[in-house]
Amino acid sequence: MRFPLALTSKIAAYIIGHKLRRTEKFATVLQLEPLHTCNLTCTGCGRIREYSTSLKDMMTLEDCLGAAEECNAPMVSICGGEPLIYPHIEALIGGLLVQKRIVYVCTNAMFMRKKMREWLASEFLKNASAVERQMTELLANGLINPKDADEIRKGPKDAAKQVIAPSDWVYWNVHLDGLERTHDLIVEREGVFKECIHAIKMAKLLGYQVATNTTVYKETNMVELEQLFDFLSDLGVDGHTITPGYEYDSAKKDMISRLNLQPENFFLTRNVTVQKFAKMEDWMQRYTFFGTPVYFEFLAGKRDLTCSAWAIPTRNMAGWKAPCYFMTDAVGTNGTGHFRSYAELLAQVDWNKYGVVDGVARDPRCENCMTHCGYEPTASLGLNAKPGDTWKTIKFNFGAKPKPTGRGSEVLAYNGVTSGNGHLTGKRAEIDAVAS
Ligand code: SF4
Ligand code: SF4
Repeated sequence: MRFPLALTSKIAAYIIGHKLRRTEKFATVLQLEPLHTCNLTCTGCGRIREYSTSLKDMMTLEDCLGAAEECNAPMVSICGGEPLIYPHIEALIGGLLVQKRIVYVCTNAMFMRKKMREWLASEFLKNASAVERQMTELLANGLINPKDADEIRKGPKDAAKQVIAPSDWVYWNVHLDGLERTHDLIVEREGVFKECIHAIKMAKLLGYQVATNTTVYKETNMVELEQLFDFLSDLGVDGHTITPGYEYDSAKKDMISRLNLQPENFFLTRNVTVQKFAKMEDWMQRYTFFGTPVYFEFLAGKRDLTCSAWAIPTRNMAGWKAPCYFMTDAVGTNGTGHFRSYAELLAQVDWNKYGVVDGVARDPRCENCMTHCGYEPTASLGLNAKPGDTWKTIKFNFGAKPKPTGRGSEVLAYNGVTSGNGHLTGKRAEIDAVAS
């Protein structure tokens, strides 16, 4: 199966329950942003720009867990900012598991290996010989060094502190937008791709579940992405999500003022999205994409969907963000664009003002949006269903998981700084171009 049976059953039972009760609007995934602090400054990231004046603030653990209880979405995507910077991340994941939720930890992976070493240190107290065997393998693969191994043998610094353990209900969800050169350019730091791959390899050796999330921009080379998925499938990655990049106002302004780049060269229009995703139906059979075939057909321009942003609400320290993950309008508490409760968000936002219907944007800012956050729930909830959709989705999710393609070793994944082809946010490329 593409997605583990227990998890698929949990989501299906939740949706069917709401359908039987005729609930008009409900949450399927909570985007939980405990903080907006990040160790990176990726080009095109709306979060660190929109919330630049509150980067030091964070939600309490109680608020985070309360938000999940309140909207009751079966899946919680912990994002940010970088969630591994959140000081209560272990307790948050633990609390969400007690609530029996499926948890995605959306991370740039820079602190993943540290968190996994902390788990190994806590395991060392319980079963030293098993951890020694794991460390032998990790050392042989260059994923920890002898100093790390010695630290692990000392056990946890604070035995009472929770750790992030492998679980069938938790996915590391690693941000990867291309092979080394492209990814490091987009995250604006050399070495990040390499660290992501080390972290993924370590996670798979230790039995964690790993997904990746990729955003497609105008300059994304889809052949390169195909190579990325070949490479990742051979690493044993459990699944992928993919979405077209949304043109945040704040990110557009930042690109002009800080990088002197033109946003129209970076973000996708609807037409270009459809061109980029032309092979999506082929890809969804070849790689383990998480989602619905209906959404992938939409991305490939084969059908129309309307937006259901209410089904993937965003909760952060300011409240429940309105109307969606991308836009913040002058509604809610004191016109801040945030509501105090999910119920208020559902009741008070005029949802008919948003999305694209029959090719006409109800709001100009929605015109080029075909993102996962707005349109995947429309597909998974069957809101614009055509005959045969339900069977297609069941077949897709309950069918066999695609096998690794076996082409990963042919991919020149390290095509940036580690191959001596260094760059600094494109500046090196400019210098090379001038020099040649
Ligand atoms: S890692 Fe995520 S939150 Fe941090 S800057 Fe990049 S996209 Fe934004
Ligand atoms: S289409 Fe939906 S998800 Fe996209 S920007 Fe508009 S309201 Fe937000």
